[in-house]
Amino acid sequence: MRVVLLGAPGAGKGTHCKRIVARYGLLHLSSGDILRRERAEGTALGKKAQSYMDAGTLVPDDLIVEMMSKAIQAARAGGYVLDGFPRTVRQAEALDRALAKGNNGIDVVINLQVNDNVVVERITGRRSCPKCGAVYHVKNMPPKRDGVCDHDGAALVQRPDDTAEVVKNRLATYYEQTEPVVEYYKARRDVRDVPADGEADAVAATLFEELDALK
Ligand code: AMP
Repeated sequence: MRVVLLGAPGAGKGTHCKRIVARYGLLHLSSGDILRRERAEGTALGKKAQSYMDAGTLVPDDLIVEMMSKAIQAARAGGYVLDGFPRTVRQAEALDRALAKGNNGIDVVINLQVNDNVVVERITGRRSCPKCGAVYHVKNMPPKRDGVCDHDGAALVQRPDDTAEVVKNRLATYYEQTEPVVEYYKARRDVRDVPADGEADAVAATLFEELDALK
């Protein structure tokens, strides 16, 4: 199964991808995670991406398309879920061209729908472990000990692009450049809208119903 997961920043793409991966045995291909890894390793791509990411704007399409094409190729025949990509209509077109070559269509596009006030609350409260990548929320999913990862005891950090100021830019970027991707897919593919303001378990239940029906 090949799934594209769309949604505003903070819609729960990362959280639900983890659950989808666990349930259906798919590979998780997250453009944001790959970029953060490239940055941590100090690669040329990571350095190029840095300023865009910190400002809450998008990394240029060409860089992203090349990076994600490699990741998709590496996934080969296996199923995967794309998280954070495509984020512009140009990226969606490039993905369609790349997949048409290998005859590997996308089976379904899931569109997580969330209100702006929920996005701001979720993102500004998000904290993550720099060591193992576990994600927490100061109110909704706090660690057992304040500011400390449950798994490895590392001090939790706030992503530099999760501050209130940058979140505003990320939302504006989403409406301007990524929302049109939903329309692009609605004209071409099976798109399922999933309301995602609620608790993660309830959202996941709806999401799984949609995906189970495809099996
Ligand atoms: P995310 O973790 O998906 O919220 O992504 C974090 C940041 O990485 C975004 O704010 C962008 O700067 C960059 N990024 C991730 N995916 C893409 C993409 N598909 N196109 C352009 N920039 C991206």
